Amino acid sequence: MTSTLSAQVTGPVLAPYDEGYADEVAAWNRVATHTPDLVVGAASADDVAAAVRYARDHGLHVTVQGTGHGAEASVTSGLMITTKRLDTLTIDPATRTATIGAGQQWGNVVAAAAEHGLLPISGAASTVGVVGLLVGGGLGPLARSHGYASDYVESFTVVTGQGEVVEASGTDHADLYWALRGGKWGLGIVTEVRVRLVELTRLYAGSLMFEGAAIEPAFRAWVDYTATADDQVSTSAAIIRMPPFEQVPEPLRGRTLLTVRFAYPGDVDRGASLAAPLRAAAPVYLDGLGELPAGQIARIHNDPTEPGASQVYGLLLDPVDQDFATAFLAAFGPEAETPFVSAELRHLGGAAARDVEGGSAVAGRAGSFACSLVGVRPDFFDKVLPDAAYDWQEATARWVRADGNANLMGLPVTAERLATMWSEGANIRLGEVRWRYDPDGVFAKPA
Ligand SMILES: Cc1cc2nc3c(=O)[nH]c(=O)nc-3n(C[C@H](O)[C@H](O)[C@H](O)COP(=O)(O)OP(=O)(O)OC[C@H]3O[C@@H](n4cnc5c(N)ncnc54)[C@H](O)[C@@H]3O)c2cc1C
Repeated sequence: MTSTLSAQVTGPVLAPYDEGYADEVAAWNRVATHTPDLVVGAASADDVAAAVRYARDHGLHVTVQGTGHGAEASVTSGLMITTKRLDTLTIDPATRTATIGAGQQWGNVVAAAAEHGLLPISGAASTVGVVGLLVGGGLGPLARSHGYASDYVESFTVVTGQGEVVEASGTDHADLYWALRGGKWGLGIVTEVRVRLVELTRLYAGSLMFEGAAIEPAFRAWVDYTATADDQVSTSAAIIRMPPFEQVPEPLRGRTLLTVRFAYPGDVDRGASLAAPLRAAAPVYLDGLGELPAGQIARIHNDPTEPGASQVYGLLLDPVDQDFATAFLAAFGPEAETPFVSAELRHLGGAAARDVEGGSAVAGRAGSFACSLVGVRPDFFDKVLPDAAYDWQEATARWVRADGNANLMGLPVTAERLATMWSEGANIRLGEVRWRYDPDGVFAKPA
């Protein structure tokens, strides 16, 4: 079966019994163990196109994996295309753009752009895949000052469900361009993307950590702060239970901490004055907020970079208040018994609430906060975490919105949740684009 396809592509074509198969399908999120019928390690857009045509002709549905950060469930059949070999990266300082192969991770783009005094608008973590983040919108540490990462996409090179390679931009296949900026699933396989970069070398950014009795006043102050925050300031707050492992630096090891992340893309004095109310809210345990080279933007969230198993549960919220703060502290505060290692709220609004000229399919722009709960204990995956996430959603129902953020929606991935994630109009439009570019339904849908 694999020999016909092997003759048409330059990258490896592997079946479950082949050496190298397990490494090829391995996801960053070890919660998933993928076992597709075939995996194609694409080395070019032509490889992707040949694999898609082969899948269509053989009745196999197609999935795509960049890094596997979004691997919430295992892929157990069909043809998987991996993109890690599509790792080209060119920065053009003259046009302030980056042309990026679909296998690249954000950290490499940030580092390459920084050499020219430029910054891509990306997500929080350096190891997340460029394309996987962009097709879901992409919320990052500069969400309120700069908007979604996908707002900066100039064009995508895409393989359609019929195995054709097309360019999608504001002038070419504009319907697909609209859909790929946030529409996430079943739209095609992106092989390359061109994004605009911003001129930014330094930020006033980092995090303030609070511990013990300081957590409640600091969290309550952050909730109040968000009600009137400057649009140029992006913040998030997370209560994190640090594991007691040796690899964790001593001051953090085994502690429950509130981390308030802050990013202001302007001068240090103004940044410090904007951060002053947060710093003054309670005694700061660790102050990691100050001038930060833009190339070190991943230090704001300090997300894990090593693969591991985790489950994420996400909700989009309306403006929150002190009643919400009470509920959040009761569920995740230092005294709470919770199965989640992290409970995070990202403040939205500002540029994230404004759609781009010509529109995009980014879901949930009207949300005020993105809430993500993360659990890492495998023995909790089946029941404890889903039950606790359900309880949290029930307890906070009055703030929970029906729409969501495609990248941060987490579990459960149900048809019902996907149906309300976008507005009715956007959903219809996305359905039409999927039909136009994938009439045979080759690309797998999440639910
Ligand atoms: C530690 C961590 C931090 C994160 N931080 C953020 C954040 O700050 N902001 C944010 O918005 N999200 C964040 N996410 C979510 C992340 O953006 C999504 O999970 C994203 O889909 C991951 O993309 P990937 O390519 O790395 O993962 P993958 O699991 O490889 O891909 C996930 C999905 O993206 C799509 N996709 C990937 N490659 C292609 C392609 N070439 N063409 C078409 N579709 C493709 C597919 O639907 C695929 O199933 C984070 C996730 C983790 C685990």
